This record gives sequence, structure tokens and C-alpha cells, in this order.
Amino acid sequence: MAHRKLVLSTNNKHKVEEIKNILKDFPIEVLSKKDVGMADFDVEEDGDTLEKNSIKKAKALAEKVDYMVMADDSGLFVDALDEAPGVYSSRYAGEEGNDEKNNIKLLKELKGVSLENRSASFFSVIAIVTEEKEVFTVKGQCKGHIIFEPKGDNGFGYDPLFVPLGYDKTFAELGNDIKNNISHRARALEGIQDLLSKLIKGEQYENSGNQRYTWYE
Ligand code: IMP
Repeated sequence: MAHRKLVLSTNNKHKVEEIKNILKDFPIEVLSKKDVGMADFDVEEDGDTLEKNSIKKAKALAEKVDYMVMADDSGLFVDALDEAPGVYSSRYAGEEGNDEKNNIKLLKELKGVSLENRSASFFSVIAIVTEEKEVFTVKGQCKGHIIFEPKGDNGFGYDPLFVPLGYDKTFAELGNDIKNNISHRARALEGIQDLLSKLIKGEQYENSGNQRYTWYE
């Protein structure tokens, strides 16, 4: 069977390798933006939801190439903070911020909030635009809570403050092997495998578990 091409809306080598590995048994060739001569192509993530941003990124690139396109957006949603930092996770402490400043701000905002009220979820939304310009999204969730001080050296972002449900260590302490099995991205990527296998076979794609699918005209 001829291989379909899937272009990822990223230049992040780690993400490209991760997705190549996950899709290695599919008749799909995974390409980065750079591979299709679009290394510098970028869009502003100005949507107020993860869905809007991932769709915007995927659609913008899909206008430039004839292949399937995939883009993602993720963030941390803390219940006691009305879901903040949410879609603004990467710039919670401002445009000039960084992971450390974001974590300091998060702890400050949660000052005085008891352990049982520190529940939070990471969400990841992956959008796919097909060659026919049909748009699908898949959402993955990882529930957990925010602890009182950073712990662990692995990972990135809010990993040192986030303890996933069922564990007593942070993502930054648990390391990538465990994280990549239970994370919001892992869940969303499971959904993407299901979606792609159905798209390849020409089957209808349906809701399943915490993965969501939306059809946009
Ligand atoms: P992105 O959309 O994957 O680039 O993620 C946006 C922001 O959400 C990151 O800059 C982090 O602050 C936060 N974030 C997303 N996923 C994770 C994760 O797995 N661990 C920690 N922080 C994350």
C-alpha cells in the first residue's frame, strides 16, 4: 500500500521521534515541518481553548501542503484556580516567563489551599486535518494534584509540581518511561492511533472513553 504522508506542525525533534515511533506500524510516513520546507512557518496561538489553537495550527499548515497534518496544544487546568493556567500555561508568568517562574506563580496562587482542594488535570488536544481538509480532534486527560513545593529533575513545565492520580511522586520524579504511559499526551496519542486506523480503513470514527472527537464542517 502506498504510504500516506502526515506532516507534524512542529520542529521539536523529540515530538517527531515520539510520534514516528507510535505510528511505526501504520502505512504512514511521518514528516516534520522542516521536511516539507516549512521550518519557519508558525502561527500565533491566540485561541482561548486548546481545541482552537490546535485546529488553527493544523489548518494553517494544511493550507500550505497537500498531505495530512497534525498539531497539538496542551496545558494544566487547576480546579481551585478556575482552570488556570489552562490554555495560557506556557506564559502564565508573562511573555518573558519560563518554567520556573510559572511554577513559582502557580504555588503563589495556591497559597493557603489545602491538599484536598489542589486537584488539577493536564489536557492535550491533537488536531488532524486530512488530505480532504476534514478536521478531527482528540483530547487526552491526566488527573492529579499540585503539591506544595517542586520535586524531581525530569521533564519540563509543571512536572515538578504535578502528582498524577494513583501515584505519590511528581511527573518530574517518576521520569519519562512512566510519564509517557499515563500522560495526557499519551492518552491523546492513543486516540490518534484509533482515529488514523479508522481513517485508513475508511471506517466511521466514534467517541471512546475520555477521548473526544469532533467533526468540523
Ligand atoms: P505545549 O502545548 O505542549 O507546548 O504545552 C504548553 C504548556 O503547557 C507548556 O509550556 C507547559 O507549561 C504546559 N505543559 C504541557 N504539557 C506538559 C507536561 O507534560 N508537563 C508539564 N507541563 C506541561
